Amino acid sequence: MPRSSELLRGASHLECTYTGETVESEALHGLSSAGKPYFARYDLEAIRPGFQPADLAGRRADLWRYEDVLPVRDRACQVSLGEGWTPLLDSARLAVRMGVSRVWIKDEGQNPTGSFKDRGLCLAVSRAKELGAIELAIPSAGNAGGAAAAYGAAAGLPVHVVVPTDTPAPILAEIRALGANLRLLDGLISDCGREVWSGVEKHGWFDLSTLKEPYRVEGKKTMGYELFEQLGGRLPDGIVYPTGGGTGLIGMWKAFDEMERMGWIGPERPKMFSVQAAGCAPMVRAWESGAAEAEPWADAVTYAAGMRVPGAVGDFLILKAIRESGGAAVAIRDQDMYDWVQAVGADTGIFAAPEGGAVAAAVPALVAMGALDPDEEVVLFNTGSGLKYVGMSPV
Ligand SMILES: *Cc1c(COP(=O)(O)O)cnc(C)c1O
Repeated sequence: MPRSSELLRGASHLECTYTGETVESEALHGLSSAGKPYFARYDLEAIRPGFQPADLAGRRADLWRYEDVLPVRDRACQVSLGEGWTPLLDSARLAVRMGVSRVWIKDEGQNPTGSFKDRGLCLAVSRAKELGAIELAIPSAGNAGGAAAAYGAAAGLPVHVVVPTDTPAPILAEIRALGANLRLLDGLISDCGREVWSGVEKHGWFDLSTLKEPYRVEGKKTMGYELFEQLGGRLPDGIVYPTGGGTGLIGMWKAFDEMERMGWIGPERPKMFSVQAAGCAPMVRAWESGAAEAEPWADAVTYAAGMRVPGAVGDFLILKAIRESGGAAVAIRDQDMYDWVQAVGADTGIFAAPEGGAVAAAVPALVAMGALDPDEEVVLFNTGSGLKYVGMSPV
């Protein structure tokens, strides 16, 4: 689709999610002065009259259909590979297997690079380009590196990707083929983050780490708007989400707040269920202990690379959303993820990532805990394609 240089409204300002401090939104920003994430804020009262669910009919079938509540101002800077607007699939046989009444799978494996990281990196790269960044860098457990490489290539900006040496081979091949500068590190994503930071200080790279710049979460929030539209103008009772940095969970929670302010929904919210790997479960441990923030997890191990995140800068936002929604957090063993990948595949035709297997495994676990009622309708996020994990085995 040819894009004109038409100017949109964009964000009104950025707000620190911890202190409420505000700054203008038209320069490149990282974390706030308190070292916490910024949220982009919008003049929703002004946007509201022209951005009601009926206004979306006939709009483009990707996440830019929500451009009214996205930060990019110049349409010519909307980098796109066809991200978002992924199918929401009614999975009746899987529901029977799980013993619950209705299960939907939001199949994020159908994004351009095979994971929902495309949503966040699409926005972060578009906005970085618009605001004049010239060299981008990202630490990744895998999929975010692939997505950053793809959107950097589409935008014509160089990208440095730092990943652990044991990142799945298909993802390494992808990052290389997309022209990024790939560096392998013997460590975890947190170690990769330190490596990127030294490049920021030495070479002026712009850091695309999740929630350390304000716009990946804006791309991920579009999942919340899509759920509402694809369910015919309502939200489900529960959302089951595989949590690493938590950007998608935090983003959807933000979307629901915006939707309420624009009169799309009332104060009711889905229960937000956070799923982690038994070998790396900092949010589950914090939720169980009633803590407001999560201690980093030592010796993180799981083959679900997207959930191998020992510490998250948005920990307090994840825990707040789980608690305010009446949700819960649960840890799943790698072998159970693997077994449920097979079950999801046989029941639905979707080859899920291990993270998708984890959310499926979580449903019976949540029912057994009493956190989910079998009569409640849930949406499971399959956040990536199983094809990106070929050759990886449960740990
Ligand atoms: C990154 C990733 C996750 C975790 O997403 P967050 O929003 O960072 O919590 C889950 N699944 C897959 C496949 C991922 O790549």
